[in-house]
Amino acid sequence: MNIAPDRQDINRTYYREHRDHIRARQIMLHNERRDSDLCIKCGAAILDKEFIQCERCREAIRQRHQRLKAEVIIQYGGRCACCGESDVHFLAIDHINGGGNVHRKQTGIGTGAYFYKWLRKHKYPKGYRVLCFNCNFSLGAYGMCPHQELKQLITSVPEHEAIQYEHRS
Ligand SMILES: [Zn+2]
Ligand SMILES: [Zn+2]
Ligand SMILES: [Zn+2]
Repeated sequence: MNIAPDRQDINRTYYREHRDHIRARQIMLHNERRDSDLCIKCGAAILDKEFIQCERCREAIRQRHQRLKAEVIIQYGGRCACCGESDVHFLAIDHINGGGNVHRKQTGIGTGAYFYKWLRKHKYPKGYRVLCFNCNFSLGAYGMCPHQELKQLITSVPEHEAIQYEHRS
C-alpha cells in the first residue's frame, strides 16, 4: 500500500504550518510589485497603470469568473425564467423574493464572483433563479415584466375574440 502523501497534501501541510510567514511574504511581494508598477500576480510590466494586474492575468481572472458564472447559471436552469434567453452574457442570478442586494449585504456574500462562489459552496440553494438583464430590470423597476403582461393578455383573450388574419386571395 502506498502511504506516501501526495504533493498536494505536502503543500497543504506546509502551507498550514507556515501560513503567517507565507502571507506576510506575499503581502510584501504584492506591495513591492505594486509600488514598481508591476503585476502583483506575475510581476510582468503593466501597460495600463489603472490596474494592479497585467493584461494577461486580468484576462485569466475574467475567464475564470465567466466559467464560474456559467457553471452557476447552468445549475439554475441556464435560461431566463421569464423570457427563456439562454445567452449567458445576458443572464444573472436573481434572488426570487427580491431584495437581492439587501440579502447579499445581510449575509455578507458580496456581489459578482463572491456571490457565485457562495452559491456553489452552498450547493445551489433554492430561492434563486436565472433572469436576463431586461427581465431583471423590468421586474425591479415595474414589479412586472412586459413578457408576463403579454402572456396574460394572450391567455385572457377568449378563443373566439382572438384576432383572425385573413389572407387576400
Ligand atoms: Zn500578470
Ligand atoms: Zn428575460
Ligand atoms: Zn421578461
